[in-house]
Amino acid sequence: MIKETLEKIEQISEKTLSAIKESVDLDAINDVRVKILGKKGELTAVLKTMGKLSADERPVIGAKANEVREAVERAISEQTAKLKSLHYEARIKSEAIDVTLPGKRMRSGRPHPMSIVLNDLKEIFRSMGYTVVAGPEIEETRYVFDMLNTFEGHPARDESDTFYISDDVVLRTQTSSVQIRTMLENKPPIAIISPGRVFRRDEFDATHSPVFNQCEALVVDKNITFADLKGTLETFMKRLYGDSVKLRFRPHNFPYTEPSAEVDLSCFKCNGQTPDSGYCGFCKNEGWVEMLGAGVVHPQVLRNCGIDPDVYSGFAFGMGLERITMMRYEIDDLRHLYENDIRFLKQF
Ligand SMILES: [Zn+2]
Repeated sequence: MIKETLEKIEQISEKTLSAIKESVDLDAINDVRVKILGKKGELTAVLKTMGKLSADERPVIGAKANEVREAVERAISEQTAKLKSLHYEARIKSEAIDVTLPGKRMRSGRPHPMSIVLNDLKEIFRSMGYTVVAGPEIEETRYVFDMLNTFEGHPARDESDTFYISDDVVLRTQTSSVQIRTMLENKPPIAIISPGRVFRRDEFDATHSPVFNQCEALVVDKNITFADLKGTLETFMKRLYGDSVKLRFRPHNFPYTEPSAEVDLSCFKCNGQTPDSGYCGFCKNEGWVEMLGAGVVHPQVLRNCGIDPDVYSGFAFGMGLERITMMRYEIDDLRHLYENDIRFLKQF
């Protein structure tokens, strides 16, 4: 009897120890433990038969059983430690970060070419003592037209040119309305620029857009003459386009200035010399490109704003920001400035 029991215990021991060594996870180890040492476990079952043994035999079996239990528990704790360490190593491997891999490059935005030009323009005028002023885009006709001597019947007021919101409210067609507002609210000396969006009923094509940006300037003080206008424009254009640029003034007619002029710039692409190709697309072989409108503020406009034209005089000019930008960067189609094509914008 005792021999059989010892053999049985030995079998259980061998089977159990190898099962533990083959366990691949902690659950499997636990299953083995329950199967052998649990209440209904195999070793427990053998020990329950000890009652049938003689008093001499019991301690022998008891000692053997204890020996086996200790061996099983030792094996369990060794296998558990081994599995935990394997698991830890696997985790380190799977979560490893290669710090030598190149990073992901963040693409940063950059200023739009018109913003670059507008900032340069503001900088130049600020350095000459001008203030930058803004005004509403939805504007009363008296500020856009009436007070600028553009009376009823003037073609500029025509519905085919202007977006009317009501009879006396429009989307401003020029930022001159800001000049009027400034003169109504301030006493001379006045020196402002008024960059902003303006609206006209134009088709959208290579040179026209129903929305575009203007920058106008106004100076009102004692003894301001056409010479001041010329000097200011020359200084401004040379700062913007370089010292070699030349200006040409052609007589023109605006309701709000007298005398009035259109101002051309010498073509800085061909400089008036017909290029080898025989054709300069920039000035169409004219040697000059039309740039802006300007003039001495009409005395009636000053009077409309409560400024005495016998004491004060002034000059004003206005130009399209798109045109200045296109000239500067040699852009041939206005629409490039609005389409936000990244391949185009990346160049600036
Ligand atoms: Zn040219």
